[in-house]
Amino acid sequence: MRRRDILAAGLLLPLEGLAQTCGIVTPRQTEGPFFTPNSPKRISLLEGNEKSKLIVTGTVLTAQCKPVANALLDFWHSDEQGAYDNRGFRYRGHQFADAQGRYRLETIVPAEYPGRARHIHVKVQAPRGRVLTTQIHFPGDPGNPRDGLYQPELEMKQAKAGEGAFDFVVSVQ
Ligand code: FE
Repeated sequence: MRRRDILAAGLLLPLEGLAQTCGIVTPRQTEGPFFTPNSPKRISLLEGNEKSKLIVTGTVLTAQCKPVANALLDFWHSDEQGAYDNRGFRYRGHQFADAQGRYRLETIVPAEYPGRARHIHVKVQAPRGRVLTTQIHFPGDPGNPRDGLYQPELEMKQAKAGEGAFDFVVSVQ
């Protein structure tokens, strides 16, 4: 069996829930111009009056498929109008994965903005590991084919609107 075939076979193994497979490190993607350091620590970015709630869950894993306890996840994304809050911390927040590497983000579905499909920015870092900066995308978003930064590997799994799943695979030294 060639290495590529082994990898392909691995992708067919049954997986827990909606989560992606591990084994392949999550591709990096540009940070973009709107990252703000020192975001508040919170799992919910909701403000209480949103129409388009989104829950994203998943696990942070090593390339060897081991959960990364206490991994840092720092999320930021645009608002309902496709704008970023570059003065404050609206739709920005960091959290730490639990002992099983699991995280849960409660937020809204961000709007697209010119040139970009819907996406959520994130920095993921294992304790003492290197920062992985990437973006996650929405399956079936009409903007995906027109977005030069879109990568199918960075699509969330979505069983229904308002729920997404994405596992981050990070390399740990
Ligand atoms: Fe962006």
